[in-house]
Amino acid sequence: MNKVHLRHRIAPRIFNGHPWVFGNEVEKVDGNPQPGEIVEVVFSDGKFVGKGYYNAASQIMVRLLTRNKADDINEAWFVKKIKECWAYRQQIGYTENCRLVFGEADGLPQLIIDKFNDYFVIQTLALGIDLWKPAIVKALQTVFNPKGIYERNDVPVRELEGLDQHKGFLSAPFETKILINENGLKFHVDIENGQKTGYFLDQQDNRRAIQHIVKGADVLGAFTYTGTFEIHAGYYGAKSVLGLDISQNAVDQANKNAELNGLERTVKFEQANAFDVLKAWGKEERRWDVVMLDPPAFTKSRANIQKAITGYKEINLRGMKLIKPGGFLVTSSCTSLVNPELFLQTIEMASKDARRKIRQVTFQKQASDHPIIWGMENTEYLKFLIVQVE
Ligand code: SAH
Repeated sequence: MNKVHLRHRIAPRIFNGHPWVFGNEVEKVDGNPQPGEIVEVVFSDGKFVGKGYYNAASQIMVRLLTRNKADDINEAWFVKKIKECWAYRQQIGYTENCRLVFGEADGLPQLIIDKFNDYFVIQTLALGIDLWKPAIVKALQTVFNPKGIYERNDVPVRELEGLDQHKGFLSAPFETKILINENGLKFHVDIENGQKTGYFLDQQDNRRAIQHIVKGADVLGAFTYTGTFEIHAGYYGAKSVLGLDISQNAVDQANKNAELNGLERTVKFEQANAFDVLKAWGKEERRWDVVMLDPPAFTKSRANIQKAITGYKEINLRGMKLIKPGGFLVTSSCTSLVNPELFLQTIEMASKDARRKIRQVTFQKQASDHPIIWGMENTEYLKFLIVQVE
């Protein structure tokens, strides 16, 4: 097997378990590994590090798949990994829907698999894992005998690896508009044309966290997509719920979801730019008991991080101004570029500018089917905060 030798002086990251080997950490490469091929990685003294997939065209030259020398990366290995991933999700209480594979956090770098009851949605975001797609599909068929498998590789990050963007069936074609159950509610999921893999599973535990604060409340939600938080609010006994999203398509889906749950009289969605509308309603002195915000990432690059902070601060400031004294702000951020500490600081800045005192009710991360590996920054990305606003 082709061998990648690490430099003598490298950061302890790889030794401590991180799966990425950057090109500038490599002393030499024995043999002539093809892009995506499995290679063996060794420390400068020749000691075995692990096996992983190689791509000289990527900044990350190798992504490790195993630290066990006895492991052969083959179809059987993928079956074993998928079984382990599923056993973990079941152990922590997921039954119907979950992120079955969360990339690096499951030892399967750049592989995402979402399970929506009998349907699976896959993303292979690096060349080395993309080549194993047939084995991954076979493994899913062996372990789950699914009704359908779909690929949502229409993501720009693939281009960094020289991969094209596309989506399509990896099983026999099926109806891609499906229904799922979450926390006792039903939701339409559009696997083919929805955002990302069709549905945001990462908030599924957090949606339950609003249960008590929305009872009898007038609730305003913004950045609602399929309306999951707002429909939960209706279900948990809110008096009225208004949800806003800039996408008419999202608004239509959300209204359909409200109807699906018999909540269309209390939970309504409208198309609007949340930045403009929240500002205008602040001036008109309209007020709500609970305001919920779940905006998009605002930036994808470290260089533009200030843009994201400005966005978060602005929208949270506008949201806070709409809250009746003693009411609650429910707010999220979904990019790993803004770390938890920075996010809380941003909310604090917003509260100072809004001249509203806040106290933290709960601070959570993504749902636990998206495990966080300490030291692997990209595995910790979602922040979910509830504060009471004086
Ligand atoms: N809360 C949702 C996920 C929200 S994703 C859930 O739990 O599933 C972010 C949403 O923000 C997207 O649907 C996007 O259309 C919407 N969005 C982006 N910019 C917006 C803006 N300026 N005003 C309102 N909605 C916006």
